[in-house]
Amino acid sequence: MNVKEFEGIFYRVGKWRGHDNYECMQCTFATLGGPEKVLAHVRKKHFSWSERCEPMVAIADRRGREITPEPVDSGMEEMAAEAVTRSEVINTFGEEVGAMLISAGYSTLTSVEPLTVDDLMKIEGIGRTRAKKILKVMSE
Ligand SMILES: [Zn+2]
Repeated sequence: MNVKEFEGIFYRVGKWRGHDNYECMQCTFATLGGPEKVLAHVRKKHFSWSERCEPMVAIADRRGREITPEPVDSGMEEMAAEAVTRSEVINTFGEEVGAMLISAGYSTLTSVEPLTVDDLMKIEGIGRTRAKKILKVMSE
């Protein structure tokens, strides 16, 4: 299943400080964690995909075909697991610093752990104060 197929149906992509921001089309929820994260939200808050029942609202794709929510397959679960890992960085350091770490390729706490102040200061937007704060959070 290609999650991008749901763009413009369940979520839209906006911009937040230069990062792609994935916004739920049914409420104010938004995440920098990627399409998997926003779809996980849609599934949890607006659907129960595991229940075999008619969707409350009929949703059609661009060609007018009705879309029936599919049961979660293992691929989706893997992607959801990745989204959780990504949000772990955002949950730990906040949206702003978390997004900087993720865009620099440090999407997990394990990848952030070996970094030093000098390494962190190479990341755009992170100065000495933020770098020290990150290390302090990691050591707690
Ligand atoms: Zn929502």
